Amino acid sequence: MSGEILFSASSASRAEKCTGSGLFNAMRVSSPEGAFGSAGHESLYHRAIYGVDEAMRMLPDTCARFGLTEQQTGMLAARLRKFAWSPPPAAVGELSLAICGTLGDVRVVRSKGGKGHYEDLPDDALTAGQLDVMWAEPFPLTRNADGRIVCPVKSTLIVTDYKFGESDHYVDPVERNLQLAINTTAAALWTGAERAVAVVLWVRDEHGEWDAGPVMTSRDFSATLERVVALRDKRIAERDRIASGALPTTHEGAWCAYCPSESSCPSKLMAVRAALANNTGALIPAIAEVLTNDEARRLPIYASTLERWAKKLKDAAQAHVRRNGPITYEDGTQYGKVVVERERIDPVAAMTVLHEELGPHVGEAIDVSKAAIERAFDSLHADLGLTRQTSAAMRRTLAKLHERKAITKVSREEMRMHRPSDATPKEVAGATPAATSTEGAFESRQARGVQAQPKAVTRRNGLPEESPFFSDADDGPL
Ligand code: SF4
Repeated sequence: MSGEILFSASSASRAEKCTGSGLFNAMRVSSPEGAFGSAGHESLYHRAIYGVDEAMRMLPDTCARFGLTEQQTGMLAARLRKFAWSPPPAAVGELSLAICGTLGDVRVVRSKGGKGHYEDLPDDALTAGQLDVMWAEPFPLTRNADGRIVCPVKSTLIVTDYKFGESDHYVDPVERNLQLAINTTAAALWTGAERAVAVVLWVRDEHGEWDAGPVMTSRDFSATLERVVALRDKRIAERDRIASGALPTTHEGAWCAYCPSESSCPSKLMAVRAALANNTGALIPAIAEVLTNDEARRLPIYASTLERWAKKLKDAAQAHVRRNGPITYEDGTQYGKVVVERERIDPVAAMTVLHEELGPHVGEAIDVSKAAIERAFDSLHADLGLTRQTSAAMRRTLAKLHERKAITKVSREEMRMHRPSDATPKEVAGATPAATSTEGAFESRQARGVQAQPKAVTRRNGLPEESPFFSDADDGPL
């Protein structure tokens, strides 16, 4: 067993858009954002096994294993504290599966590894992927006599991918997301599910934001397998072309951000040169006062490439400093940690003086943030000997503040790459979370029947009052 795959589920979308990506000078990509997401994934895996409390208790160790800083650990803890959803009972997490064989004779096997790197794959492996969590509704996953995990006949398999990023710029909407299509197809074939739904779950406040795709059936599984085989053939031809000395076929886009070939990609190197040099080759910005439309189109892409590369250089230097200590230059300057002191005004002590000085305008000098309220609740609850009450207290307080119109929305214009809201379908049919647990062990929940035709839900628009995917009409036992 030493099969080589030319793309994993997580790189499939990029490989489909840019055939040469990852087939030349590939380097393992790691970034602080990636480590943050990996620690978050592992913590949610712990949540599925041990429950919320234990997973939160284990979080500092989990974060330390992924090299998160104290600040990142705090941010992740705050994010996970606010995220109330837990996988339902009998959910299966962090499962790696490989799709093997040929069209018409496909099989799915469990594989070792994850996060794009898989070991000991069968010789005829086409691709492999690791899904974050899956479960079945209304009847949970079960084991057959051979100990194999199976999806009951009347159930629908829900395959979910957690996302921890702030921006959806790098994530394909679920209905076009090849990673999800591959993982969902592999999981359906492996469990024998006749119907499955792929979900991107953004780990945010309360239940997170759910981007659920339409119900997939055997026709969709076959279409995904055809896409996988076509992509593999295309990648084999591209690999052979590059080996014969041809330049890789590249196509730039948002997917470049996590490309393992980016640092030697001909398109990127050309973009960096073009951004820094004028037509005489001098290293000065090629920014004329008046741009042609074509120049204007390219400059934001050049700028975002340079920003990303600058960040990579900074990340690499900081990682070096963390491992080896500060870097010292001939002139005595150093690159390393430095403590910067900033003055902080104690709001309680300041209030009297501000009242004296500002009178009726005192309110304008006070800047209240959700993070500060949360910190205050932490202190209050510590004084009262209460634990795990902050989320509920925050919900209650924010509701009151909304009621009293103390919270208003402030819009601010930013100039950055983004996905316009009308660039993706507004409505998709799909699933929403069913079970939630905010405190301790998972709550059991009422099983509900599956509707033949799920209602549409607004994509990434919070939770609808009622799950579009289930109705109470067809109750079944958990
Ligand atoms: S960096 Fe280059 S090789 Fe990688 S995805 Fe972008 S265009 Fe393709």
